Amino acid sequence: MKLEGIHHITAITGDAPRNVDFYARVLGLRLVKKSVNQDDPTVYHLFYGDEQGAPGNDLTFFEYPGARPGRAGAGMIHRIVWRVGSADSVGFWEERLGGEGVTTAREGESLVFADPEGLEHELAPIDVPDAPLVARSVDVPDEHALRGFDSVRAYTPDPETSRALLEGALGFEPRGEGEWEARGEQRGGRIVYDQSSTPGSPGAGTVHHIAWATRMDDQTAWRERVVDAGAHPTPVIDRYYFRSVYFREPSGVLFELATMGPGFDVDEPMETLGERLALPPNYESFRERLEQVLTPLPDTRAWRRATAGTS
Ligand code: ZN
Repeated sequence: MKLEGIHHITAITGDAPRNVDFYARVLGLRLVKKSVNQDDPTVYHLFYGDEQGAPGNDLTFFEYPGARPGRAGAGMIHRIVWRVGSADSVGFWEERLGGEGVTTAREGESLVFADPEGLEHELAPIDVPDAPLVARSVDVPDEHALRGFDSVRAYTPDPETSRALLEGALGFEPRGEGEWEARGEQRGGRIVYDQSSTPGSPGAGTVHHIAWATRMDDQTAWRERVVDAGAHPTPVIDRYYFRSVYFREPSGVLFELATMGPGFDVDEPMETLGERLALPPNYESFRERLEQVLTPLPDTRAWRRATAGTS
């Protein structure tokens, strides 16, 4: 039983329209689900991904309108590392982001930048056997598109405190100083810890949690392993598009284990993912009111490229 890398990463935005513009237009990801917070349906839960909304390229945002900027600190993820195809792709993004007024920096072979609310990203030309998970946008050629998550970087006072849970219960392999990889049959993903005791503050532009991908039938067994390791997971929660279990790992990072299905086409056709507001069944009767209350978002269809053969 192995985890299949990173399933999704969830962060916080205080400005949903600008968030859509940045991730769907500038970065060229597909808005694969426009849903609401299951605890507060008057705010969005936005999901970006590749064409299929596959686990491995799924960045999601809780909207807290007007939320103050947060700062990543101990026990928090401070950087999301994406795979890109080549050094040429890094050059493409340097130019594209620069043209959008986004400050970038070269770090080794990678490009580092922050989203409009300060969430840090790294684009890394990393050669892995994993299938590239690509979205088709008007302005980003396929060869330069983001290919899915490679890793995250998190702050901890001491990476060693996480070793036993990662290697024991969760089956991660050590890859270097403060670095572990979860690699399954299809995909792999890593977490890298940077030493820091400075407390952070949650808010706009910070990561809320990271989910690791489990095969559909394995989730209960994973949960039991986490319990046996002394962590305190939630019960299995039905998120409609996948099923989830949450717990904090010893460094303080909020982990989720999420099933690889059923997927984002469970409540709308794959061709029009993310175009209509998706509501959990118990909120469906409030649709008209919610559509009035929720912040209007840009129409992402103008940024989408038709799939070959369909137009
Ligand atoms: Zn999640």
